[in-house]
Amino acid sequence: MRKPIIAGNWKMNLSLAEAGNLTKSLLEGDWSGDREVYIFPTFLQLEGIGARLEGQKDIRLGAQDGYPEASGAFTGEVSLYQLLEADVRAVIIGHSERRQIFEEPNDLIADKVDAAIEYELTPFYCCGEPLEVRELEEHESFVVEQLEKSLFHLEEEQMKQVVIAYEPVWAIGTGETATPEQAQSMHSFIRDEIEDRYSEDLASGIRILYGGSIKPHNAEELFSCKDVDGGLIGGASLQAEDFLSIIQAA
Ligand code: PEP
Repeated sequence: MRKPIIAGNWKMNLSLAEAGNLTKSLLEGDWSGDREVYIFPTFLQLEGIGARLEGQKDIRLGAQDGYPEASGAFTGEVSLYQLLEADVRAVIIGHSERRQIFEEPNDLIADKVDAAIEYELTPFYCCGEPLEVRELEEHESFVVEQLEKSLFHLEEEQMKQVVIAYEPVWAIGTGETATPEQAQSMHSFIRDEIEDRYSEDLASGIRILYGGSIKPHNAEELFSCKDVDGGLIGGASLQAEDFLSIIQAA
């Protein structure tokens, strides 16, 4: 059995006070520990949210990115190593906004994955195709190429630490969601690719999340797909009520 994960990517949103209030509401929410809940605030909010979470119900803290070098002349970056001091347990790597807006190449993404593994952070590795690729029906080969260039270099033991998020770019922040059939088909395709390259054991245990306009009204249907092990949620994770209802749907 794969334990579902519900993860909130807050992106570049919320003031310190708003982030604190949202965390408080999530802690007070009515949900149990038979799923894993992660929140990914901005770097600035990590320490304060970490302090709020201490000794509380199990909400895990993650960062939205991190630089692979431990320290040095990389103005504006925060290293994955530095994040350890904020009790961060996970990191989003290769989000489509990083790939597209900041033109992050696969080799940098691969280095980030390696550093996260080295520091025992859970990489939430994102992959997914843009609209024009989906329209050409080349989404499977596109996603396999991303995985080959920046994830599948890991050894089997290292891969066990990874969470994959399949996030079709055309569904992120657009209000357009993949149908349950589209999500299930891609998730099972990714799982099969993992089985081919690694093992049946790894493929059946690895969690593959769906991301792309998950909302309270569509969460249950998406999460009921056999190979969808929860979700990475952007917009709807910013409202306590919505995020709590998505957590309950898992
Ligand atoms: C995301 O940014 O990972 C995401 C899935 O965003 P949204 O839920 O807003 O589409």
